[in-house]
Amino acid sequence: MPSACDACGAIGSPLAKVSLGHDFFGRVYDRLTPSSDRSPAWYCPPCSEEKAMQLDLRAIREAAQGPDTPLGRPGELERAVARLREVAARLRAGFDGTTPFHGKLLARGDVEATLGELEERAAGAAP
Ligand SMILES: [Zn+2]
Repeated sequence: MPSACDACGAIGSPLAKVSLGHDFFGRVYDRLTPSSDRSPAWYCPPCSEEKAMQLDLRAIREAAQGPDTPLGRPGELERAVARLREVAARLRAGFDGTTPFHGKLLARGDVEATLGELEERAAGAAP
């Protein structure tokens, strides 16, 4: 077990491995797809949370682009928007220093851009 957080390099925090079981939509991760996430990484508590948010953002962003998307299922678009709002709020609090947060894994602009896209899509889908 390493002694430093793989994202921020913190030493002395209890480190945890972020589990890559299922993604935001409940799909099992395809471990054969080349990805930096294949190598196990260890994170301190704020970075583990950030990592989990990063994985959700990635799953949602990919879903927003692909055909036959899980976002087409009833309620999923709303659930994705709610999650991204939560992530955006968490990031704002992190950058304000309200909550412990290192900002090594997630870019605020990425979250807000994807959230904006989905909100537009949700508004367009409304009757
Ligand atoms: Zn860390």
